Amino acid sequence: MLDFTSLLLATAISGFCLSLTMLAFRISSRSGDYMITWSIGLLIIVSHIMAYWIYVNHPNVWLGSYVAVSLPTGVATIYASARQFAFGTKPFKPALLIAVPYLAIVLPLLAAGYDGTALMVQNATVGMLFVLCSHIYFNARHEAPFSMSALSALYVLLGMSFGLCGAVLLFGGEWRIGRAPDNFAERVNIVVAVVCMTAIGALSVTVDQARLARKHRIDAMTDPLTGLLNRRALFQAFGGKVLGSQHAAVVFDLDHFKRVNDDYGHACGDEVIRMFADILRDAVRNRETAARLGGEEFVLILSETTPDHARMAAERIASAFSARVITTPQGELRCTVSAGIGFPGPSGASFEEVLSRADAELYEAKRAGRNRVEAGELRLAG
Ligand code: GH3
Ligand code: MG
Ligand code: MG
Repeated sequence: MLDFTSLLLATAISGFCLSLTMLAFRISSRSGDYMITWSIGLLIIVSHIMAYWIYVNHPNVWLGSYVAVSLPTGVATIYASARQFAFGTKPFKPALLIAVPYLAIVLPLLAAGYDGTALMVQNATVGMLFVLCSHIYFNARHEAPFSMSALSALYVLLGMSFGLCGAVLLFGGEWRIGRAPDNFAERVNIVVAVVCMTAIGALSVTVDQARLARKHRIDAMTDPLTGLLNRRALFQAFGGKVLGSQHAAVVFDLDHFKRVNDDYGHACGDEVIRMFADILRDAVRNRETAARLGGEEFVLILSETTPDHARMAAERIASAFSARVITTPQGELRCTVSAGIGFPGPSGASFEEVLSRADAELYEAKRAGRNRVEAGELRLAG
């Protein structure tokens, strides 16, 4: 019903346009480099289809060789881009690791005139590579469940259609054919390829956008200097909520920090802030939250705690910090921190209220000489 050569030409044109679209998208949206790899893979496949289109009417050994070599090279590049997307690895190694052994098998077969056998190897290799792509996207589906699962299904479908082409040649015993194979599997394959590659292109864009949006969400919630949650993230998690009696908020403020900046420089101040953040991060247990409120102020939200435990936790962090010695060009530097603990009390209190109680305690700690933990609400909490 469908004219095979017209189908081939249509596939090549749609593949070429898709590849250009993806490249343009990559340039305009500054998305991942795997898009470039993917587009290059598709361009190689387009060159394969064009060569195949000519080969169908004018079979010759050189064109046949290019046809046999270019498809797996293009698909290996697509597979390399899937790995680049999922693992951030450079694309050249996987592409070479596949292409070199493949050529070592297929080129001698072609030289000996076993073009049918070479095509079987080609279809098996390409089918396997698409199934591997499917596996990669399936394993990464948590990033964008619908799009990733759909991508995975499309790659499997592509892989199966190539497997079918190989199987038809194998069962027909077509070891030497001297022309392009023309059977129902080839037609199914070309239709599946057009549909799948177009849909894969569109889905890759949505997956890319989902990844970008996720990165922006994480960036907006993370303090760039320390990697801790920032104030916005803290208030998004706890703002307006009532904290139960087993919670506590510990607010930390580094002592005489202006002097650190003045005497040792701002970069050294940053180093001290990072160091305190590391100590805080190490102290956080499951279901507890640490955040940088701003400047050199931090907060630790404890859950399932008691007033005694909260005080001990705060004191452990404060003494770990004061024990650290920072070597600077101006000499050794030691810093201390003051902390105030706020409790919700037996009947609970809003997060904002607990935080302001902790702030009031911090003020007391500063007034009482710094380098100490105040938890005046202990009696109320107990
Ligand atoms: P106190 O013991 O009363 O807390 O004295 P202090 O000098 O620490 O006073 P305060 O907490 O008001 O000072 C905060 C200083 O922290 C002011 C600002 O220069 C410095 N600071 C805020 N953010 C940063 C930062 O990201 N990096 C560095 N290096 N310094 C910061
Ligand atoms: Mg401060
Ligand atoms: Mg301070």
